[in-house]
Amino acid sequence: MGFAKRTIRDVDPSGKKVLVRVDFNVPLGPDARGGLAVADDTRIRAALPTITALLERGAALALCSHLGRPKGRDPKQSLAPVAARLGELLGRPVPLLADCVGPEVRAAIGRLKGGDAVLLENVRFHPEEERNDPAFAKDLAAGFGLYVNDAFGAAHRAHASTEGVARILPAYAGLLMERELAALGGLLTDPKKPFVAIVGGAKVSSKIDVLRSLVPKVDTLAVGGGMANTFLLATGHTVGTSLVEADRTGEAKRIITELESARKRILLPVDVLCAPSVDADGAQRAATHLADEVPDGTAIVDIGPRTVAMYRDVIREAKTVFWNGPVGVFEIDAFANGTRQVARFMANNPTATTVVGGGESVQAVTEAGLADKMTHVSTGGGASLELIEGKTLPGVEAIPDA
Ligand code: ADP
Ligand code: MG
Repeated sequence: MGFAKRTIRDVDPSGKKVLVRVDFNVPLGPDARGGLAVADDTRIRAALPTITALLERGAALALCSHLGRPKGRDPKQSLAPVAARLGELLGRPVPLLADCVGPEVRAAIGRLKGGDAVLLENVRFHPEEERNDPAFAKDLAAGFGLYVNDAFGAAHRAHASTEGVARILPAYAGLLMERELAALGGLLTDPKKPFVAIVGGAKVSSKIDVLRSLVPKVDTLAVGGGMANTFLLATGHTVGTSLVEADRTGEAKRIITELESARKRILLPVDVLCAPSVDADGAQRAATHLADEVPDGTAIVDIGPRTVAMYRDVIREAKTVFWNGPVGVFEIDAFANGTRQVARFMANNPTATTVVGGGESVQAVTEAGLADKMTHVSTGGGASLELIEGKTLPGVEAIPDA
């Protein structure tokens, strides 16, 4: 899959009706009046450069997104709170149309003038969306002259609004899509060396393809979090009551051997924080131990200080750092130190290209207030991992190369 796609810079959108697929699948929470409001607008903000660039150049926009996993029409999963928040961010109201297809929508699109923007209602209110139904894609495309895809977070899905319409309308990448592809794709194509990847998170089984894809690219692989326990078990350690996948030690061994035979470094924890239970009570009684002295009846919940120092040294020397997956149970404050330190070390290396991808790892960087210190923090959880795995993303594939 090519990462250099033709973008909105390669087309004159003025006077055109443009269907813009954005990823406004944001968390909602209660508002002051008993309704719903956007709880985190990161993804809406991330789409603003594309939206304002198109509006300034005189395009008429219909923004299209999914929200949640509705089974048919569901007012609780309406994009109304998103339209309100987007209007605040743009400094002018953004009308929400009652649907994304149909005669009334088509009429409203027909009335749009250059510089206008409307939001279409949740595209997943129609089951045809996820089936990538060709007739539905045709309905979605009706009345538009261009299609722009800025929804990187949905690009791993072959749905009507991410893939089907790109086969009907002239398709271009938005600026967020372009940035995501450059940052994540750059890790696979020409990372500046030394390239350090830090992979943590819960399980080896969910990250095995990420690890496999990174092994030939990296100079150093640091394995942390729950999945490090499986690596520790594979190298003859006992891990107490830790989260571990005993059936995955073979995979772990293979990765270690591959790295070693290519004369690359693998960093496994040399010391770990151990707790009798993974909760507030356990936090009171947690203690650091060497990785080969994990006490029976305790679980590994974070990397220890010596391991943190090893991470610091490799991150400091790196020219490229990719991080996915927290290195401890960071949801509990007492177990969050290692994860916070990784974010800090990356933020403190001004010359390295630093990229964070994933769900919880992005959350950890954002909570640490360090997101804007990174070269790139991906907005696409599942999509970013599939890209790193080397998979073809249908929503990207459907946009012609630059
Ligand atoms: P991401 O969403 O960044 O890709 P994952 O979904 O793979 O990351 O994993 C995130 C989860 O891993 C977090 O909820 C965290 O609590 C958990 N985790 C990290 N370290 C450990 C550990 N030592 N034991 C159990 N769970 C862990
Ligand atoms: Mg996750």
